[in-house]
Amino acid sequence: MDNGSFMKHKSYDVIIAGAGPAGSTAATLLAQYGHSVLLIEKSEHPRFHIGESMLPMAEPVMKRLGIDWQAGNLKKGGAEFIDETSGRATYFPFQGKYRTFQVERSVFDQRLFNNAVAQGVIAHENETITQVDCHREQVDIQTDKQSYQARYFIDATGRDALMGKKLNSIQKINNLGQYALYKHYRLNHSPEAQALFSHGNIKIFLSQIGWIWCIPLTDNRLSVGLVVQKQEATPLKKEALYEQYIQASPYMKRLLEKAEVLSEIRIEADFSYQNQQRYGQRFACCGDASGFLDPVFSSGFLFAVKTAEFVADTLHTHLLAGTEADSELQKINDAFYQKGFKTMHLLIERFYGSNLVENLFFESDRQLKIKQEIVALLAGDLWQEGNGFQQGLLSGRSKNT
Ligand SMILES: Cc1cc2nc3c(=O)[nH]c(=O)nc-3n(C[C@H](O)[C@H](O)[C@H](O)COP(=O)(O)OP(=O)(O)OC[C@H]3O[C@@H](n4cnc5c(N)ncnc54)[C@H](O)[C@@H]3O)c2cc1C
Repeated sequence: MDNGSFMKHKSYDVIIAGAGPAGSTAATLLAQYGHSVLLIEKSEHPRFHIGESMLPMAEPVMKRLGIDWQAGNLKKGGAEFIDETSGRATYFPFQGKYRTFQVERSVFDQRLFNNAVAQGVIAHENETITQVDCHREQVDIQTDKQSYQARYFIDATGRDALMGKKLNSIQKINNLGQYALYKHYRLNHSPEAQALFSHGNIKIFLSQIGWIWCIPLTDNRLSVGLVVQKQEATPLKKEALYEQYIQASPYMKRLLEKAEVLSEIRIEADFSYQNQQRYGQRFACCGDASGFLDPVFSSGFLFAVKTAEFVADTLHTHLLAGTEADSELQKINDAFYQKGFKTMHLLIERFYGSNLVENLFFESDRQLKIKQEIVALLAGDLWQEGNGFQQGLLSGRSKNT
């Protein structure tokens, strides 16, 4: 720090690193409460992001933000799970109180960001937070451009996990998917494509090596990804591996026959993890900076906006009272978050480890109650009481399902 620069530091109630869904949500809610918020994003919107399939329980948060998430997005009817080898399939519809969409993230994340700015958030793009020091009296923040001070810091840096890396608190979760290979396409007007866009379902295909997602978006766009869990016997180059397993699915092969490829193959590795230190003195993490789970049940965006909501609501009362230095202020929220994260984690473990889809999902059409309970979890309704299936998961009773 150069002499006298203390006086030059710009000061805010809250500084947030990362303007993905978590950062923009926390920023907007805190600005709505009347706090001064600086949101710093290292890249610039619109920026590509994977993770297009939304869960219904994010809707109440969208409403609070003032976002009409129907606008410009494709309605998602529900989730289909398909085993083409055995010919078995099942469908979990979202209806009644459960409503959601498939979104193109570059467009949608920009909307969330612009909405934050429209509600009073100061935002800087193309600026990277490089150093965060949380002291008893304030937080000192250094970026590649300048220094700031804040009463509180929120880490919403996604899988970059700024605080997790600084504190060395990222713990890998093993035995789930290892990495994802994915592409975007534009489909022609085949009857199959029309059916896909009209119901808007996410299709999850079981694959020898892991699973495949097929997510319809607006403008005939399609997101396809292969999540690899098992080691290939003969290692292949990523593109060849992707093509081999996508082409091995009769449905995907037909669907993509005349499709236009819109992107190069992308890869996302270092899959599931949890940050073991999600809050502390004058800081909290939200979204992927808190933890990330294999995306088979599309839970990432929901956790991003819910954790942002938990953090912002609690922080608001502490900022008002001047007690935001209390290092335990996020403890109750965190326990709440953990219930949701653990439920999803256990569900995903069963997906890979004990044939959840074969043994339970495909059988659930004959048991209405269990079907409804599964729908609730797949909708992200993770904090309601009385879901017997969830209780079984959390208590270890449903280990063999
Ligand atoms: C293969 C794959 C498939 C997925 N599919 C789904 C799905 O179908 N549905 C779903 O809900 N979720 C899905 N997800 C997860 C979902 O994309 C994430 O959970 C979600 O984007 C998390 O939001 P976030 O705001 O925490 O992080 P991000 O959206 O990653 O935003 C973090 C932001 O922080 C910025 N940043 C990073 N470091 C800094 C820094 N030092 N300073 C300033 N800015 C910084 C980044 O540029 C970025 O814009 C998927 C993820 C993967 C990997």
